[in-house]
Amino acid sequence: MATKKILIIEDEEDVQELLRYNLCREGFECEIAGDGDLGVAKALSISPDLILLDLMLPEIDGLEVCRKLRNNGQTDTVPIIMVTAKSDESDIVAGLELGADDYITKPFSPKVLVARVRAVLRRKKKEKAKQDEIIRIHGIEIDPGRHKVKIAGETVNLTSSEFSLLRFLASRPGWVFTRYQIVDAIHGNDYPVTDRSIDVQIVGLRKKMGDTGSCIETVRGIGYRFKEY
Ligand code: CA
Repeated sequence: MATKKILIIEDEEDVQELLRYNLCREGFECEIAGDGDLGVAKALSISPDLILLDLMLPEIDGLEVCRKLRNNGQTDTVPIIMVTAKSDESDIVAGLELGADDYITKPFSPKVLVARVRAVLRRKKKEKAKQDEIIRIHGIEIDPGRHKVKIAGETVNLTSSEFSLLRFLASRPGWVFTRYQIVDAIHGNDYPVTDRSIDVQIVGLRKKMGDTGSCIETVRGIGYRFKEY
């Protein structure tokens, strides 16, 4: 397994050292940022595998850092473990709602810290594997990792929105979705997604899929469903 890079965003030197020492000893590679702005900048430049984020930081606080990391496409999926004082319960809740993955309270035992880091990395790896799982149904092969679709072994070229649409429907065969639910689930990058544009895209998608396009069924008055059998 490749060495995992951990970014420590923490202003107190003794805590920085404690974190760094214990993580390095376990084979992790550590980078330190002493304040929030530097933390965000480093997160962008070094692409860490995980971020340990102190919530009590000078200038911009940890929650703001968390928000910035989650709002940037480059860092929005990097796991974040908040490091905080026990008394900061409302901050912990706010942080989790902003998309942090876990938290650890000071003072922490090094063993617990390392266990938490490993657990979060494991969880993310599993999630990612699931996201990248190839969907095979009715002769269609959808490869989310490579962003490719094949029908009966032939590659079909789809736009990014068409791909998301097909993947969304095909991953839940038999379920009926309203246009609104579909709009909500897929965020088109190449197309402003509205409920009307879903209809247009379905037409385009079916056409590209040829006969197999009939797998996408219109449910009158409700929305769409991917054929289950
Ligand atoms: Ca601090």
